[in-house]
Amino acid sequence: MMTKGPSDDCFAIGEDLMPLDKALGLLRARLAPVVGTETVALREAAGRVLAAGLHAPRDVPGFDNAAVDGYAFAHASLDTEGETRLPLYGVARAGAPMTAALPRGTAAEVFTGAPIPEGADTVVMIEDTRREGHAVILPPGVKPGANVRRAGEDIMAGTPVLEAGQRLRPQDLGLAAAVGAPGLEVHERLRVAVFSTGNELAEPGDRLPPGGVHDVNRPMLSAILEGWGFAVSDLGILPDDPARLREVLAAASEQHEVILSSGGASRSTEDHVVRAVGALGRLDFWRIAIKPGRPLAFGRVGGVIFVGLPGNPVAAAVCLMRIARPALFRLAGAVWREPVSYPLPAAFVMTKKPARREFLRGSVIRDNEGRAWVQRFDRQGSGVLTSMVATAGLIELPEALTRIERGDLVDFVPYCELFF
Ligand code: AMP
Ligand code: MG
Repeated sequence: MMTKGPSDDCFAIGEDLMPLDKALGLLRARLAPVVGTETVALREAAGRVLAAGLHAPRDVPGFDNAAVDGYAFAHASLDTEGETRLPLYGVARAGAPMTAALPRGTAAEVFTGAPIPEGADTVVMIEDTRREGHAVILPPGVKPGANVRRAGEDIMAGTPVLEAGQRLRPQDLGLAAAVGAPGLEVHERLRVAVFSTGNELAEPGDRLPPGGVHDVNRPMLSAILEGWGFAVSDLGILPDDPARLREVLAAASEQHEVILSSGGASRSTEDHVVRAVGALGRLDFWRIAIKPGRPLAFGRVGGVIFVGLPGNPVAAAVCLMRIARPALFRLAGAVWREPVSYPLPAAFVMTKKPARREFLRGSVIRDNEGRAWVQRFDRQGSGVLTSMVATAGLIELPEALTRIERGDLVDFVPYCELFF
């Protein structure tokens, strides 16, 4: 597959405060896969992005077979009223078909998965029958074709089963195995280098200097990226030293497709990262009309995409999950896909500023009647990390909304939609 690098001005915008959908639309239109492809065994393919679609070369199931343990026979052999007594002619087991055809007026003992003997079309489960010596008594009212799994009823030969650009889930690998594919052509893992910036930051475990905070974002953001199947390199905490930053950025751009940082994604004089990226390539600022997380930087160093997330941990996570995620997956070869949200009644009342989209951290609760509601966490500050730990997902409030009453439907996006 052809891969192409990002163009120099692929992040140029020309607008001040941008609605989220516009930002996503621009990323969608301007980004394309930047990774090559490889063939891997099914066991290695979980979580990878499929590069070539898969068609079924054969029917699944490959033959009519018994859905239960019991007796197979021709429906025409049954008495129209009452029970039917049929002599037993043979046995078919899974992997051991009966070789002879079944004569009319007889039955074969069959086990789940066994090919239906030629001449039979219907199966009754063993629990609904009685044995009498070398014969079986079948109940009245059996429907023709009962308990038979037809050839091709799951997948018909020639139909597409997996599509290029989809991320492979366990059930997709099961399907690939069912049609006999030993491996799949997938995209190479997107290589993402991650660093944090800020002179106040210290590694967890290190002594905090006055005014210091531990680096929360690197372990959190790296874990999210790894959950997405990317190959993450840890560049550590980088000091506000322009020469050193340029050196690290230049080296990282040789071995990655994406460099992702948090902190300092604004135009203040303290933001040396911005200047270092600008000196090596190009950087554009995106002010997206969302809360939390407005300042975001996108740029390019050589052929590599630079993403500068805000420093506040909740804002960094929201921007990564909701803005960078579809973009990074697109670079990794996936089709553009935004998270699925679920409408749920709000268990809260609130007033909201218009003209920006808000992401609240919230949980699904049940009332006494078992109905589901979504409740927001009580402290929504963009530095309040407990708001993400204590909740199950994001409540996404559209731009135009200014007031939410109890019971209004709001969109809820579970973290499982975002983390994987
Ligand atoms: P900045 O975006 O650099 O202006 O940072 C905004 C806020 O986020 C400041 O309070 C920073 O201390 C904090 N912050 C920035 N980076 C991190 C990080 N990696 N871990 C925890 N807090 C951070
Ligand atoms: Mg900073």
